[in-house]
Amino acid sequence: MSPQLRFSSPSPAGRGGLRGRGKQAETFSPSSEGKVVHSEICKAIHKMVGAQPLLNHEQIDQAPDYGIYFLYEKGEYYSQADGSDGRIVRVGISKILHERLRSEIVSGGTVLRMHLGSALLKRDGACATDIERWYHPKDKVAWRPENVKRQFLEYVQQNFTVRCLEVADQRLRVEYEKQLIYELAQCKGCIPSDGWLGHMAYNEKVRQWGLWNHDHTDDNPRLQKADLDSFHRFLGLS
Ligand SMILES: [Zn+2]
Repeated sequence: MSPQLRFSSPSPAGRGGLRGRGKQAETFSPSSEGKVVHSEICKAIHKMVGAQPLLNHEQIDQAPDYGIYFLYEKGEYYSQADGSDGRIVRVGISKILHERLRSEIVSGGTVLRMHLGSALLKRDGACATDIERWYHPKDKVAWRPENVKRQFLEYVQQNFTVRCLEVADQRLRVEYEKQLIYELAQCKGCIPSDGWLGHMAYNEKVRQWGLWNHDHTDDNPRLQKADLDSFHRFLGLS
């Protein structure tokens, strides 16, 4: 029998207002038994993804051609493991995954660099102007000091690993990505650690929802029924 699915819905905090520590500070708390409670869909995501090979930045050529990637970060744990060894901290898609992952965690040319770089700058005491220049270069020539770029690459290569799921259909990849990010962001059990670098990110949605994503975190994608059914089959839920 299929597990009963309970889709999460945005908390009041998701409609604005919550600052700083996001989920951990005010929105969610552990259950009375002292265990965090993940949504059924979050458990299914972590279980399915957790069964895939874990790759480091030197192994990304092993990624499938078309699919979805899931980043894990040292120090971020999924307490109800179900075979998984960590909390998913970022989701992305590509039609050529190994190229995308090379850009993401080897050369540093994606939005992850903007998010994570802003947090490194904040952590190291940079002024607000410099953090904004890093995140929102207004002069078309991005402000990318070599030392911060180097720090970014060192951080991701030392702290990030990745798992991938193959999805050949481009349209479905896009639809699944939206639903995956939304479900992980809204899961009450997926709480960042106290020391998570994302608490210092410039983008409020990163801080609020505990992922290195901002799009789709609090915007229910409301997939068509056929796509939702397909998504459940993808996760082994039906
Ligand atoms: Zn969860």
